Amino acid sequence: MVCALCAQAVCAAPESDAVTRKNAHDIFKQLIEINTTDSVGSTTVAAQAMAQRLLDAGFPKADVVVLGPNDRKGNMVARYRGKAGSKLKPVLIIAHLDVVEAKREDWSTDPFQFVEKDGYFYGRGTQDMKDSDAIAVTDFIRMKKEGFVPNRDIILALTADEENGKSNGVDWLLKNHRELIDAEFALNPDSGGVRPDKPQIVGFEATEKLYGDFQVLATNPGGHSSLPIPDNAIYHVANALAALQKWTFPFELNAVTREYFAQMAKIETGQRAADLRAILATPPDEKAVERLSQDTHMNAVMRTTCVATMLSGGHAPNALPGRAEANVNCRIFPGHSQEEIRLQLVKLFNDPQLTVRYRSDTGELTDHGSDRKAMAPPPLRDDVMNSLRSVAAKFWPGFTVLPIMEAGASDSIHTMNAGIPSYGISGVAIERADDRAHGRDERVKIDAYYTGVEFYYQFLKALTTPAP
Ligand SMILES: [Zn+2]
Repeated sequence: MVCALCAQAVCAAPESDAVTRKNAHDIFKQLIEINTTDSVGSTTVAAQAMAQRLLDAGFPKADVVVLGPNDRKGNMVARYRGKAGSKLKPVLIIAHLDVVEAKREDWSTDPFQFVEKDGYFYGRGTQDMKDSDAIAVTDFIRMKKEGFVPNRDIILALTADEENGKSNGVDWLLKNHRELIDAEFALNPDSGGVRPDKPQIVGFEATEKLYGDFQVLATNPGGHSSLPIPDNAIYHVANALAALQKWTFPFELNAVTREYFAQMAKIETGQRAADLRAILATPPDEKAVERLSQDTHMNAVMRTTCVATMLSGGHAPNALPGRAEANVNCRIFPGHSQEEIRLQLVKLFNDPQLTVRYRSDTGELTDHGSDRKAMAPPPLRDDVMNSLRSVAAKFWPGFTVLPIMEAGASDSIHTMNAGIPSYGISGVAIERADDRAHGRDERVKIDAYYTGVEFYYQFLKALTTPAP
């Protein structure tokens, strides 16, 4: 009815009641104003504050815990009990509490103050991802207050160290308390997203690339720079990087990107739509692959990428360098391992003077990367897809719902590797040009936030309401 009255695609989305809106506001403000950066913040303080909110709303003490490897990196795990005797395994929601560093002098407002201005909420974490943390807690409270009983348990894990730090909460929980978060599948609002500008999409993450850093190192005896010799550590590394610059990994497709390109072909127009169709042909049209590869975002989901990100070498202006090294950062297409990519780099550089070593998240260097391949995409579950499609249609009529492969990395890599299929679904609409995650003056539209509150509430209920 409401939508029938809208002349344009911009319809009044369903709205929450006043109590829910107030809760949503207060919880969001509280989270933004608790500093959860790796340097000086504490996710434990935020985890405890959210635990208290749930206890106050009537969740039993036994179902809400705060735990972690040390006193600054706490995680909150809360279990919303489903129908007694349900044979269904739980659904898990993972959402990180930590935020990227933010300096007061870089920002127009204090990043750790919740500021409402010009129709936006400002503060570090308003996009990534305290908005979704607050939404999950608000919706848990609302469902509890109205006595909703889902067909399975819903577990909410608010966690540490997704962005930085050495105490990743999802990883830690899986290794130390798997029973607390074990689930049939997971939702992670950190990825996926609603784009209200053209093309209008509701994207959900169905798979992601694998992250890998590699050290490229050359060493030399060195010597006096007045007596140069051809064998120079800096030249070895420079030549390797020049070869990398010219190199592109082959174009690849999987079930998720195939569907993504097919859907995008329907909403794009002209040459671009034709190119999207042409790369799906067998064999793919090479010219179309080339044209689309010029677009950074398309390129990132078409292949493995590797790029030089750090460089150092030499020890004095008047000495031959004894050492030069670079970091090459790769985003690996699912189905390949870090070791496979390391061997490809060795082959590409084709220089016995160079070593190419895998650098772990903690900085450790090894001669052999992991043989673990990025997980093949999990099947798109009917219950998740149907609930998402039907609820999204109410909030964003006319938008295309489509699966995406995340080019970056999220905590879903941990749950997916643990055998828990994970879907990135966020209900907060952000325009492409307003992507400020990790950046300065991070903000979210006030309306978009409240719509997200209502969307996730309806989505969770649709997902966990027993079929009649
Ligand atoms: Zn994030």
